[in-house]
Amino acid sequence: MADFDDDPLARAIARPPAPSAPPRYLEGLNPAQREAVEAVDGPVLVLAGAGTGKTRVLTTRLAHILATKRAWPGQILCVTFTNKAAREMKERIGHLIGGVVEGMQWLGTFHAIGAKILRRHAELVGLKSNFTILDDDDQERLLKQVIQAANIDDKRWTARHLRALIDRWKNRAQAPSEVPAGESHAFANGKGAEMYAAYQERLKALNAVDFGDLLVLTIQIFKAAPDILADYRRRFVYLLVDEYQDTNVAQYLWLKLLAGERHNICCVGDDDQSIYGWRGAEVDNILRFEKDFPGARIIRLEQNYRSTPHILGAASGLIAANEARLGKTLFTKRGEGEKVTLSGFWDGEEEARSIADDIEAAQRAGEGLSDMAILVRASFQMREFEERFLNLGIPYRVIGGPRFYERQEIRDALAYFRLIVQGDDDLAFERIVNKPKRGIGDVAQQAIHKAARAAGVSLLRASFALIETDEMAAKARSGLRRLVESFARWRANLETQSHTELAAIVLEESGLIEQLQNDRSPEAAGRLENLKELVRSMEEFENLPGFLEHVSLVMAVEQNETDDKVTLMTLHGAKGLEFDRVFLPGWEEGLFPHQRALDESGLAGLEEERRLAYVGITRAKRLAHISYATNRRTHGLWQTAIPSRFVEEIPDAHVERRETDLGAAQTYDGGRWATGMYESSYSSPGWRRAQANAASGRAVNRAPLIEVSAELIATNDPSATLVQRGERVFHDKFGYGRVAQVDGNKLVVDFETSGEKRVIAQFVKRT
Ligand code: ATP
Ligand code: MG
Repeated sequence: MADFDDDPLARAIARPPAPSAPPRYLEGLNPAQREAVEAVDGPVLVLAGAGTGKTRVLTTRLAHILATKRAWPGQILCVTFTNKAAREMKERIGHLIGGVVEGMQWLGTFHAIGAKILRRHAELVGLKSNFTILDDDDQERLLKQVIQAANIDDKRWTARHLRALIDRWKNRAQAPSEVPAGESHAFANGKGAEMYAAYQERLKALNAVDFGDLLVLTIQIFKAAPDILADYRRRFVYLLVDEYQDTNVAQYLWLKLLAGERHNICCVGDDDQSIYGWRGAEVDNILRFEKDFPGARIIRLEQNYRSTPHILGAASGLIAANEARLGKTLFTKRGEGEKVTLSGFWDGEEEARSIADDIEAAQRAGEGLSDMAILVRASFQMREFEERFLNLGIPYRVIGGPRFYERQEIRDALAYFRLIVQGDDDLAFERIVNKPKRGIGDVAQQAIHKAARAAGVSLLRASFALIETDEMAAKARSGLRRLVESFARWRANLETQSHTELAAIVLEESGLIEQLQNDRSPEAAGRLENLKELVRSMEEFENLPGFLEHVSLVMAVEQNETDDKVTLMTLHGAKGLEFDRVFLPGWEEGLFPHQRALDESGLAGLEEERRLAYVGITRAKRLAHISYATNRRTHGLWQTAIPSRFVEEIPDAHVERRETDLGAAQTYDGGRWATGMYESSYSSPGWRRAQANAASGRAVNRAPLIEVSAELIATNDPSATLVQRGERVFHDKFGYGRVAQVDGNKLVVDFETSGEKRVIAQFVKRT
């Protein structure tokens, strides 16, 4: 270096050529990808096939915006398909530009971002900011009430039908007044729009929304309050959207409103992967992009980085059978690899058994379980795999989206949790008031409803009052007393106790666990397991409200990512993901393509199913295994099936048809696996393995679920934080008095005007 000291020219040459060297995060991108990353200003549409790096481009683009200081993290709106994808994207951005990126609070799904905006302005649409987000089941129950209240025969005009209509209208962002007359006619001779309006009123009264509302109501707010919209437009300097082919009209309008004049919007998508048409997604949004955002740059990516040529060839050959597509070329530079395998089995159990064996063999050969996935068309297919995995002790995770949370026992548990967080959640109350049975029959429930209506309060509040009176039969009253007192206690512990502990206690004290333990049906063990899984899945959330928000929004049961587990999920949920080895079972006519899709939507339905098959195959990086079974039990009925037409559509050059087990038919004893394998999942190898892990300290943070402890309750004695004996208190109903006895959260108070009364600690105030 000293040599340069007195030589200005040499010094100049030695200086690093700083500005022209591309930043690290751009390295390795191909020219088209790089163009999409760097074209940050103005509208950009990246239209490209599976595995071409669309998501990677979007992530890098976001990193680029941050690295070049064009915007702060909080000024970027980025829409992902799942919450999991959002989390992964945050991590990747951190890796790309070094360090953890804080403040990306607008990176999430449409629903999550919509909920966030709506909570900030809830009062503008007549809601409180702590509104509940209803699940499908609640939605249907509420609709049933609305239909009955209008004296419409709900057998003939079902809640399910009305829900489908309302969802459709909400997917198009149509308010009740905007529903086309013809469509309103589809329900109860023209009452569709009226029922929709009544339903919205009921939601408002309950301080609740459904999924569709998260966007529809925000759109309403944006339209009614231009200053608020202007505020968000100023805030969101850049908009990025993944999986754009699956946006519906409401999402599209919402994006367009937010994009404002600036039009700094980048959408990435693939028309061949549009698989939510049944939920209102419109591929046309892709075609409209250029019109709506004039001067849009359309970028195509053609190199697939994910899959081997055989996998790509199989997928491309299959999707070529679709007529309605924009068409594209794809190539890969990866080594040839193995052909896609195709196997036939006698029945679904055989299929599950063989796949589980293959997984074990692959694991023994050194493959990671988390590199493998089983992607099913219908969630009922999962059960066979779950049973097999439990039995063999193969760790697995179910990412079935709403499926897991749709299970009865999970819903019951969630209703308890919701009611703890939001005591006014009447739908949750109705669900669990007599579940498990505690003697609160129809008559008693009607009394609660009546009291609630009379006092204009929620059912839970009314119950608190009711147990102090003689309006109910003794049995119902004592059942109700136990229930509401439990809620008071749980609620009191909400702030102080860890939410997983609280959840475990609630499951125990509510009687849900006991009910299942006493249940001799074959499903009971699995249900217990599900409840355990529920508590486990809460660990990664900060608190109960945070978890419930997640449940309302998620498409996935998200678990500890570091665990090595096989993934089991639906094809719909697998969009955007990739695995080294993918199993695609159940390729049978009627199941895949699904009969309902064919019946309801004809050719369009078939093409959507084919796109789903394309999504499935293109999830695989190295190995894809397709299979079908000749006999399958669907909802308790055995059906014989023929292989899916999709099997035939895959070019022969890319498939290896394996020897099948069909010949085993004669020797197959149908009952072989049906008995004994599910006696109790607590004695299965899987459960024992979990216990061993816990003992070895690997799961130290896990809350005990079954062995819920009196201890925990004792150490969290609510009375510790409540009033003391001798204190003067005020009670809404009885006025002033002095505490004579304290028993947990139950007090005996000597009231000045009415004498001694037993009251609930939460209901008195210190004076
Ligand atoms: P899908 O349509 O399934 O959502 P995609 O187009 O979003 O796929 P990505 O998931 O972004 O594709 O990328 C597929 C795989 O290819 C990822 O593992 C990604 O890291 C890798 N990849 C993308 N671009 C490159 C590149 N330029 N060099 C190396 N690997 C790449
Ligand atoms: Mg992607």
